[in-house]
Amino acid sequence: MALSGLQIQKLLPKKTDCLKECGSNTCLAFAMKLAAKKANLSECPYASDEAKQILGAASEPPVKGVSIGGASAGEETVLYRHEKTFVNQTLLAVNIDDAAGDADKVLNSIKNYKLERVGEVLALSAVAITQKGDGKAFLDLAAKVLQVTGLPLIIRAKDISSAESVAKLAKGTKSVIANITADNMSEMKRIAEENNCALAVTADTIDGITAITEKLKAEGFNDLLTEFKTNSLAEAFQTNAVARTAAIKGSVKTVGYATLKFIDSGNQMQDTVLAINEMLKYGGVCVLPSFDAAQLVSLMTLRQNIYTDPQKPIQVEPKIYPIGEPGRNSAVFVTTNFSLTYFLVSGEIENSGISAWLVIPECEGMSVLTAWAAGKFSGAHIAKFIKECGLEDMVDARVLVIPGYVSQISGELEESLPGWKVIVGPQEAADIETFVKQTILKG
Ligand code: SF4
Repeated sequence: MALSGLQIQKLLPKKTDCLKECGSNTCLAFAMKLAAKKANLSECPYASDEAKQILGAASEPPVKGVSIGGASAGEETVLYRHEKTFVNQTLLAVNIDDAAGDADKVLNSIKNYKLERVGEVLALSAVAITQKGDGKAFLDLAAKVLQVTGLPLIIRAKDISSAESVAKLAKGTKSVIANITADNMSEMKRIAEENNCALAVTADTIDGITAITEKLKAEGFNDLLTEFKTNSLAEAFQTNAVARTAAIKGSVKTVGYATLKFIDSGNQMQDTVLAINEMLKYGGVCVLPSFDAAQLVSLMTLRQNIYTDPQKPIQVEPKIYPIGEPGRNSAVFVTTNFSLTYFLVSGEIENSGISAWLVIPECEGMSVLTAWAAGKFSGAHIAKFIKECGLEDMVDARVLVIPGYVSQISGELEESLPGWKVIVGPQEAADIETFVKQTILKG
């Protein structure tokens, strides 16, 4: 639970003769900064071990983080994104079992799956392997997955020895062993410790799961996920919401872990809905039953929208972008460096069939109207960027198309850019093609 400034102050040394080495004039001022998470306890060289222990535990996120390969899940501190931010997006994985006849094809599809959207490359984070046959077939599949995809495994074995063989093979990949129960937890804990794996704990009820997480944590193993058993969309929604609320509002540590969910309803549309539920409602890792590129496009696009922090918009680098093969007589368009705006505008210019220069000044990732309102997309700002970026040495036909939403800056721009003709373009990127035909191509 988060501590208040006064509670933190009681733990500090209150050294009146210190040289304020923490950068604050008093211990109370430093405690207030700590409570607001604007300082770190290590900045006070006189903090006791007891203070470090108590404050360290208090500063742990209510939902503990876990690493899976190079990705992370959990580490969340809020129920709703607008309260602060979501830290880690739901990781997506695809299941394959050792009876699959097309394993090579599926694994190559997983390896090659890369969705590029608004400048980000979206990909799968892990491969779940489910044992249907004997230990050898399971181990062979694990070896093939590791060799082809290089991704960490989510190991769903039928027995402890099969899990151990695969965990040994996957050592160093930060894989997950799933289906940890009260019966196998002791052996699985040993295997996880020896092979640096995380464990996904399951039971019929939330209470059953918390009994296991509590015991494992008390024994010093806390690299955990929770695997809730649910039978319907409503139950999955409710269970994830109850667990996350208990962790964040009730400070229930035993349920404060990222979740792991295997989706397999037998109906692809229902599977997609269940996966969407995981992304909307606190899922840590979501395992799809099979590889389907079309399904992944929808899920990854939605996930990107949910987990992009609006306070840190995705941006493209401010510079001049050639669209097609522009020359000295090509038109010049300008818009902001908000990724979505850039990709929409550049795509529509491309669709119009002309080559052009697209000027992207620094606008802190804001959209056109927001940047203009914040003074980051004014005539003077754009003119300064155009002069500094060397565009005037690259073009003879000095025609600059500005977004229709900021038509009011055209006069200021023409004054700041002598020799340039400023044309007000459409408000919506979708209208660029028509605008090009009616204005640019007609001269
Ligand atoms: Fe207090 Fe430590 Fe800061 Fe000194 S350095 S004022 S003891 S908090």
